[in-house]
Amino acid sequence: AARPTEQERAVDIHVAGVTKEFGGAAALHDIDLTVRPGELLALLGPSGSGKTTLLRIIAGLVEADRGHVFFGGLDATSLPVQKRQVGFVFQHYALFRHMRVADNIAYGLQVRERANRPPKAEIRRRTAELLDLVQLSGYESRFPAQLSGGQRQRVALARALAVEPRVLLLDEPFGALDAKVRKDLRAWLRDIHERTGKTTVFVTHDQDEALELADRVAILNQGHLEQVGSPDDVQDHPATPFVMTFLGQAARFSADIRDGRVLVNGKPVPVAAQRSTIGRASLYCRPWHLTPTAIGQGHYTGTISGIRRLGSIRRIEVSQANGTTLEVEVPLRTSLRLGEEIGLEILDGVIFRDD
Ligand code: ATP
Repeated sequence: AARPTEQERAVDIHVAGVTKEFGGAAALHDIDLTVRPGELLALLGPSGSGKTTLLRIIAGLVEADRGHVFFGGLDATSLPVQKRQVGFVFQHYALFRHMRVADNIAYGLQVRERANRPPKAEIRRRTAELLDLVQLSGYESRFPAQLSGGQRQRVALARALAVEPRVLLLDEPFGALDAKVRKDLRAWLRDIHERTGKTTVFVTHDQDEALELADRVAILNQGHLEQVGSPDDVQDHPATPFVMTFLGQAARFSADIRDGRVLVNGKPVPVAAQRSTIGRASLYCRPWHLTPTAIGQGHYTGTISGIRRLGSIRRIEVSQANGTTLEVEVPLRTSLRLGEEIGLEILDGVIFRDD
């Protein structure tokens, strides 16, 4: 029979009811999460939200207080890390400094017990294949100190892949690199992922990185899973105010909902609300959900307190007498002056009930 492709062999990861406390403080609350076979899933959240803890529980490096972790439907909760067949890459490349690149990559195979160890020629062949995959052919005899940070992380990824892990777990793998290199490595990782088809969980606190790279994004906040969805899902349909504000600039307005109509400062906003929702709510608006209008028109009045150009559009900052400021996107050709008083009209937004 034909050897199954990696995609066919890729396993899903299922996290069920995982809870973890450190010294009485909850780091993860009752997390349920499924990573689909062959998927690249980003765990995204601010510092301290529990991303690394969840990744380490999946890996078997940290034990959950409650809950289970399944790989391909089999309960791995009590399996030690060595038995889980996971490949890791961490933020700070943990390459062996005294070993050449090729030996770093081959290490996981060379230390296997004799019965499971591939023959030397096979190890050499696989190492060459991985060097090619991470685009470092010709670097096999270098030592880690003779590589750039980005190259070291590519070696770390090749080393993680060498043992043919069932899943790949990456903890801020580009976190220590400068912005330009990080950006280059994003496209590169996406490409490697498509070629290997490994189920991959990727920790990042960088929204752009998660939204650009991942098939789906799982957003954590203070140990709670706020939302899991495609980059479009989480951006267009944020499940909570946290997700809305974490993924980008958002202004909050108090709103009244009556008969399915949303009112801000007594004026209707063209945003649909469920008919059953009545009473106070919050309307969150992105900079492109707002547009300048004449004073006294629109939903809001304020003074322009900042103007800056963002590529092909302009962002203006509008301050209200009470000190709140918000950002509005306008076309480049709009002529507006600092200090000018304007009205703002709300064109769109996302409604959340206040409770
Ligand atoms: P960062 O982006 O800063 O790495 P994170 O989202 O990965 O953050 P975690 O490292 O998972 O967050 O930490 C979640 C919470 O658990 C934090 O409040 C942290 O202080 C706490 N924590 C994590 N590991 C330990 C530990 N070994 N002992 C005690 N507390 C811990």
